[in-house]
Amino acid sequence: MERYDVVVIGSGPGGYVAALRAAQLGKSVALIEKYPTLGGTCLNVGCIPSKALLDSSEKFYEVQHHLKEHGISLNGCTLDWGQMQARKNAVVRQTVSGLNYLMKKQRVAVYHGVGRFRSANEVAIEGGPVLYGQHIIIATGSKPATLEGVPIDKQRIITSTEALSLSEVPKRLLIVGGGVIGVEMASIFGRLGSKLVLVEYLDRLLPGMDAEAAEEVRQLLVSAYGAEIYLGHVLQEAQVKGSVVEARVASRKGDKTLTLEADYVLVAVGRRPYTEGLELEKVGLATDARGRIPVNPHLQTAIPHIYAIGDVVAGPMLAHKASEDGLFVAESIAGRKPHLDYRLVPSVVYIWPEVAGVGYTEEELQKEGRPYRVGKFPYRALGRARAAQEVRGFVKVLSDAQTDRLLGLHIVGARAADLIALGVAGLAYGASAEDLFRLPLAHPTFSEAIKEAALAASEGAPLHL
Ligand code: FAD
Ligand code: NAD
Repeated sequence: MERYDVVVIGSGPGGYVAALRAAQLGKSVALIEKYPTLGGTCLNVGCIPSKALLDSSEKFYEVQHHLKEHGISLNGCTLDWGQMQARKNAVVRQTVSGLNYLMKKQRVAVYHGVGRFRSANEVAIEGGPVLYGQHIIIATGSKPATLEGVPIDKQRIITSTEALSLSEVPKRLLIVGGGVIGVEMASIFGRLGSKLVLVEYLDRLLPGMDAEAAEEVRQLLVSAYGAEIYLGHVLQEAQVKGSVVEARVASRKGDKTLTLEADYVLVAVGRRPYTEGLELEKVGLATDARGRIPVNPHLQTAIPHIYAIGDVVAGPMLAHKASEDGLFVAESIAGRKPHLDYRLVPSVVYIWPEVAGVGYTEEELQKEGRPYRVGKFPYRALGRARAAQEVRGFVKVLSDAQTDRLLGLHIVGARAADLIALGVAGLAYGASAEDLFRLPLAHPTFSEAIKEAALAASEGAPLHL
C-alpha cells in the first residue's frame, strides 16, 4: 500500500490547491480524480469555459453594437460558432494541462479513478491501488441540481455543462433560474442572438447579491438582449417533443400558468454537493439534509484527520472559496495557524458590465438591525467611464453608522470583477469608508468611483456629483 501524508479526493479548485500547497509545505501528497483531466467543475465545465464564451460573445456583441459610436465601421460581422467553441475548448485544454505541469513540479502523485473509503485512513482507487493517508481531504465538489417533472435528457433539456458545448446557438432558449449561471448564460446566448425567456422563482434575480445591482442586471438583460423575464414563476413541467421542448410555467402563487415553447431548456436552479461513490458510510460519516458533509470551523469532519472542503461543505459554492478552504486545510495539516473568513469572499457575475460584491448586503444589515450608511456613485459621472463609453452602473459603499467601518462594497460596472479586490482588502484590514476615500487612486480610472462612494458613505456626499 502506498503511504502519503495527505490524500486528496477530487481535483477541482479545492482539491488541487490543497494538494499543491500541502506539497509546497513539505508533505507527501496524492491527488485522486475520477475524470481523465484535472481541474474539476471549474476548469472543465464551469468558470473557465463559461468565461471564454462570455468574453467571445461580448466581443461579437460589442463589434455589432458599440463600435459605431467610437467612429469605427465594419462591413458586416458574422458568427463562427464552431471557432468560438474551438477556442473555448483550447483554453480549457491549455488550463487543465497546466495543472499536470504544476503537479509534477510539486511532486504530487496523481491517480485517476473513483476514490472510495476503505477505512478511516485508506482510500481505494477503482481499478487502481489502495492509498494510505495520514490525513485525507474530501474535495468532491458538486453537480447541477434538478427539478421534479423536468427530466434532464442532456439533448434538449440541459444543464450548464451541455449549454457550454451546444452544437448550435439556440434560436429560442428557456432558462430556469435567474442565479449566476442563468444570468451568465443569458448574456452569452442573448449576445449571439437567441430569443431568451428566463423564469425565476424569486421576485428578483441574483439572490444574495445587492438588490439594486440585481435590478440593473434585469434591466440590462431586457434592454440589451430583449429577454422576456418572469420573476416569481416556476417551471412545472417540460416535455421534449421532437426538436422542441414544451414547458409549463406557473406563477409562484399559482394564479397564472403559461405554456412556452423553446429549442432548449436550461435548468440552472443551483448545485448540490456530490458524495456519490465515496462510501462515506464505511467510515461512519454522513451528510446533512442538504447533502453536505458537516465540518467544524477547522474544516474537520467527525473524524478529525478527514477534512472536507469546497462545494461539498457549507458556504458559497465558488471556486475561490474552495481554494481558500484548500489552502486553510493544507496549512493546518502543515502545522500553520491559517485564518478563514467567508465574509471576505467576493461574488462576481462575469456579464458586461460586470457585477461584484463583498461583505454585507443592505438586506443582510437590515435583517440584523445594524445601522449603516450608504454611499453611492454612478459610473456616468466618471471621466474614465465616459472616455471608454462604459457609463452603465454604480458603486455602493456600506459602512457602520457609528464607527464608519467598511461593511460592504457592491459594484455594477466595467471591471467590477477586479475593482472588488479593493473592498476585499478594505474589509480584511478593518478599513473605514474614510480610509477608502483617502487612498490616492489613479486618474482617470474606474476605481475613482469607489473613492467617491466611500466619501459619500463617510460624509454624506461625493465630490464630483
Ligand atoms: P469541483 O470543482 O466540483 O471538483 C470536484 C472534483 O472531484 C471533480 O473533478 C470530480 O470529478 C471529483 N470527484 C468527485 N467524486 C470523486 C471520487 N469519489 N473520486 C475521485 N474524484 C472525485 N465559481 C467561481 O468562483 N467563479 C466562476 O466564474 C464560476 N463559474 C462557474 C460556471 C459554471 C457553469 C459552473 C457550473 C460553476 C461555476 N463556478 C464558478 C463554481 C465553481 O466551479 C465551483 O464552486 C468549484 O468548481 C468548486 O470546487 P470544488 O473543488 O469544491 O469542486
Ligand atoms: P444559484 O443558486 O446562483 O441560482 C439558482 C436560482 O434558481 C436562484 O435564483 C433560485 O431562486 C432559482 N430557482 C430555484 N428553483 C427554481 C425553480 N423551481 N424555478 C425557477 N427558479 C428556481 O445557482 P446557479 O446559478 O445554478 O449556480 C450554481 C452555483 O455555481 C452557485 O453557487 C454559483 O455561485 C456558482 N457559479 C458561480 C459563478 C460565478 O462566480 N461567476 C458562475 C456560475 C456559477
